[in-house]
Amino acid sequence: MSFPLAGNKNIQQSVTNSIKENRLPHAIIIEGDLGTGRHTLAGFIAAAAVCGGANPPCGICKDCRMASGGNHPDITVTAPDEGKKNIAVAQIRQLKGETAIKPHQAERRVFIIDFADTMNVQSQNALLKVLEEPPGPVMFILIAETKAALLETVISRCVVLTLNPPETDEAFNYISQNHSFPTEDIKAALESSQNNIGKALLLLAGSEDDKISLAAKSFVSEMQKRNLWGMLSATATAEKSRLEADRFFKALKLEISENLRKKPHGHSAQALSKFYTELCGLEKSLALNINLSLLFCTLVSKAAETVK
Ligand SMILES: [Zn+2]
Repeated sequence: MSFPLAGNKNIQQSVTNSIKENRLPHAIIIEGDLGTGRHTLAGFIAAAAVCGGANPPCGICKDCRMASGGNHPDITVTAPDEGKKNIAVAQIRQLKGETAIKPHQAERRVFIIDFADTMNVQSQNALLKVLEEPPGPVMFILIAETKAALLETVISRCVVLTLNPPETDEAFNYISQNHSFPTEDIKAALESSQNNIGKALLLLAGSEDDKISLAAKSFVSEMQKRNLWGMLSATATAEKSRLEADRFFKALKLEISENLRKKPHGHSAQALSKFYTELCGLEKSLALNINLSLLFCTLVSKAAETVK
């Protein structure tokens, strides 16, 4: 697998070298703003640490596949319990206990501590002991927005990797190679996120959702006008991909159920609820690799029958 982040060349170099030379540090802090790729990097390093293939992380061995599926028995993630703001000292004590257990299938166990900057002094001191003298082949990856909240004693036992947003062209290439958003939209999103890829992707996904829900609204209004061509052109945005089609069906179901609640006139509630059931059926067939244009043609003909 190639290094998964745009930019951050110094980090790319040090991480790939230490993987190649099989000298990954036993404790790492990954710091950076939300959206800079901290979890992606942690996942990459963790996979490299458990990979059984020739070129870690190879991406194809059993360990890599389990790691990317989030179910590798030797990778443990600790984060604040649900509804809690901090990682409790009891969680760190439990983690400490687990470090003494031998790896299940890899050469070492990896402990990822997410929101590490939410550990209070007591928790950090509990962690310190095991950072100083790990009882077995273990590796710690602490993820934080900034290491400033961590004790100097903890920081000094870790290799610190500080992630920064990439240059504009690097960020642009990264997004356009991995996603199919229009060029102008990518540029605008990067400008308002200051090249933070995670934030830009959120903006882009949000604007796609807006487009899809507008398309669903327009479909319903064309449907009320009994305009077949109008309905067909409203589906055009959603025909680009299965993902978009899926979003479109969800948005359309929402529109139809809102119309049903408003007690429709013009066409009967009975016909509309029958249409809703048919929508659910068509939505399911999306999973069956059905041809999208065919699917939308069927949708339009069902809609036309509903308002006939
Ligand atoms: Zn592998």
